[in-house]
Amino acid sequence: MDQILKSSNWDNASFHERLNYYRKIEMQRAAAVGRKYCNIELIRNDSTNGYYDSVTNTIYINARFLTEPGTHLEGKEAIEHECTHADQNYFRNSPDLCEDPHIAVEYEIGMVVTNFPSLAELEKNVAIYLTSRTEREAKQMAFKRTVEAFQKVDRNDTDYKDYLELHKVQDAVEKQEILRTRPELISEEKARIAQYDRYQEKVNERIQILTAENNQIERQIAEELNKANYNNLDAITAMIDKLQLKKDTNAKEIERLTTERTFNPNLAEHFKTYGKKIEIDRFRITIDEMKTIKNEAIAQVKQDPIFNKLIGEVKKEKEELNRLQMQKEKMEKVKILKYIPFTKHRIKKLEEEIAGQQAKFNQKLTEAEHRSKELNILLKKKLEADPKYTALKEKLVKTKKNISEARTGKEHWNFFTHNQSVETDSLKMSGIRR
Ligand SMILES: [Zn+2]
Repeated sequence: MDQILKSSNWDNASFHERLNYYRKIEMQRAAAVGRKYCNIELIRNDSTNGYYDSVTNTIYINARFLTEPGTHLEGKEAIEHECTHADQNYFRNSPDLCEDPHIAVEYEIGMVVTNFPSLAELEKNVAIYLTSRTEREAKQMAFKRTVEAFQKVDRNDTDYKDYLELHKVQDAVEKQEILRTRPELISEEKARIAQYDRYQEKVNERIQILTAENNQIERQIAEELNKANYNNLDAITAMIDKLQLKKDTNAKEIERLTTERTFNPNLAEHFKTYGKKIEIDRFRITIDEMKTIKNEAIAQVKQDPIFNKLIGEVKKEKEELNRLQMQKEKMEKVKILKYIPFTKHRIKKLEEEIAGQQAKFNQKLTEAEHRSKELNILLKKKLEADPKYTALKEKLVKTKKNISEARTGKEHWNFFTHNQSVETDSLKMSGIRR
């Protein structure tokens, strides 16, 4: 079936032969997953290679693939890409057929957030588009199936070799676009969170639209009532009933969107668990980012010369203390020495020295601890003055609230007890205990 892709075959093929080839691909792919097969329609301008419309279950393909020579590779990739979107649309409505129902959730999110009303909107949100699960998978699948076909048909086609090169360049360009517009979305985890947030924005937008619509309907009902008189009562009543029905339908949808947080009622339960997972990821990432900033600040504060001098002195006093204590232990171990008056005297003397040294050591340690406390205050001030850190802190509080509203376990609360400081850190590092 793929033999038509051979460059010479393609260029000689008629419009209908090419269209039939695309139809066959779509039929095969629809049968493979068990979905209804899509109509294929043509686009007659240059804006895009193709798109999939889930409302009408139609794949639109640029007409130039059917009329122009040398379009065998691009056309193959375009049709496979759109078939993949049709698969995704099927699975987002059948979460039970997915390996993990959260894949259906991600298809739902991807299909909604990449549905841009205009090219300008797409350009503004290009990173969201490129990092969506639906786009990433469609691209991978289209590439894989195009490569598989050409490996069989004509692996020496020079256009095919160019295509492989171009694919690499395109990947690099797309990565560059993400880095230019939303560099943080290079992290897959952060991209997932951004996709989810964008989807939730869309849900909120829809709620706002419906609310505004209902306010308008209320005004209309009031106007109708004003117009009412003995002669037009039936007509006005019919009109108001119609408006009221629309208002009730909207109110129900507002209520459903507010509780389920998804446009797709098939996914209500899965959106709940997915949303919880997202909040926990967000929480963990925020904590990690705060830790990084804090560790940098600690490293800076710890360079304090007074503190380092004191730590050096504490160590020296501790060494001297250890030396004296060992000397005493050694003398006591040799039993016979205890009976020699000189030794008894020496041990007593050592005990005095040890007590003195202990006091010296305690004094230095207290000084070091004091300085350490001062540094902790400094550290706290430093962090409070860091806008990045305070923003993360606020985010953490919000995320914590979101999680506690939806949570079941306790596995994440210990993040809050994590409290590192200059004091515990540096004193631990110098191996000193009282
Ligand atoms: Zn696509």
